[in-house]
Amino acid sequence: MSENPTPARPGAPDEVLRVEDLKVHFPVGQSIVPFRGPLAHVRAVDGVSFSLQRGETLGLVGESGCGKSTTGLAALRMLEPTGGRILFEGQDITHLNKAAMRPLRRRLQMVYQDPYGCLNPRMAVRDIIAEPLEVHGICSHRGELQDRVAALLKTVGLLPDMADRFPHEFSGGQRQRIGIARALALEPSLIICDEPVSALDVSIQAQVVNVFVELQQRLGLSYLFIAHDLAVVRHISNRIAVMYLGRIVEIAPRDALYKAPLHPYTQALMAAVPVADPVVEAQRQRAVVVGEVPSAMRPPPGCRFHPRCPQAMPVCKTQDPALLDLGSGRAVACHLHPVQMPASTRKDAATAGAPSAPRAATTP
Ligand code: SF4
Repeated sequence: MSENPTPARPGAPDEVLRVEDLKVHFPVGQSIVPFRGPLAHVRAVDGVSFSLQRGETLGLVGESGCGKSTTGLAALRMLEPTGGRILFEGQDITHLNKAAMRPLRRRLQMVYQDPYGCLNPRMAVRDIIAEPLEVHGICSHRGELQDRVAALLKTVGLLPDMADRFPHEFSGGQRQRIGIARALALEPSLIICDEPVSALDVSIQAQVVNVFVELQQRLGLSYLFIAHDLAVVRHISNRIAVMYLGRIVEIAPRDALYKAPLHPYTQALMAAVPVADPVVEAQRQRAVVVGEVPSAMRPPPGCRFHPRCPQAMPVCKTQDPALLDLGSGRAVACHLHPVQMPASTRKDAATAGAPSAPRAATTP
């Protein structure tokens, strides 16, 4: 593994990933009437747009079931999108078949939530890390393969002589480092990190997040960092997108979002993050969200958040707020914030050029 920043392909654009109006709908049930198709669809992802620059981390946050992991899997083409476009380093990969995706897989990697479940317990760490190198025919002889594995272990802060051990001989944090080493083996430019620290003790989470930060600085990686907790993404993200029921409801540079969250859902997520000072924690006012997340099969009309929103207005029940670009990299989908575009223009607004402010967000 080279210690130098991952060299971009000659002519590769700074924009590593661009997702436009992505939809992933899953069919549910089957009609008893022949040729009628499924009874319904779960709209797991329903019109998500964002972009990711080289060397940048975009945090993707929201409750379980909001569609953030599905977004990550579809962006990697590990799930078939129902609609929208996915561009990786400027290339439209939305409809590439398996064979066409294969050479791109080297540069698109994923780190999973469960460091216990994603490592084969019967394989030595050496073989776990070497596997992608062998599959892609990266090393010409055994000695080179062993050197690469040793270098990768060192890169993630483990000792090369740990290579002969098995996953059960490691702690949770060390297993996640092994998962990261495996993802780094092919020298990717983009890693999608799907809740990579959620299964770890709080004391270990910071260490593993620091590993991601250090590797990004050394290797120039881009991360889509998925988490359900705003506290986790704070340290690592340059920008943060908040998802609710299949859509991005707010996206902003990290400091702006933490200083002044605009969407009531973001405010509620923020309120759930504990404050270290017990006096401040006891005195602060919390924005509380009541009720359960509605079914993604039948999203509420109007604003999808309105049944749970403490600030809902009559208009929220009928008009779907578009994701509006407020300038300075901020966009929010809420009727509390400036003039909304008619819902009918939402799709165009998410993908086309931005009209003058306040304007619907281009791919944020
Ligand atoms: Fe709440 Fe209305 Fe804003 Fe939706 S549009 S978040 S219901 S205030």
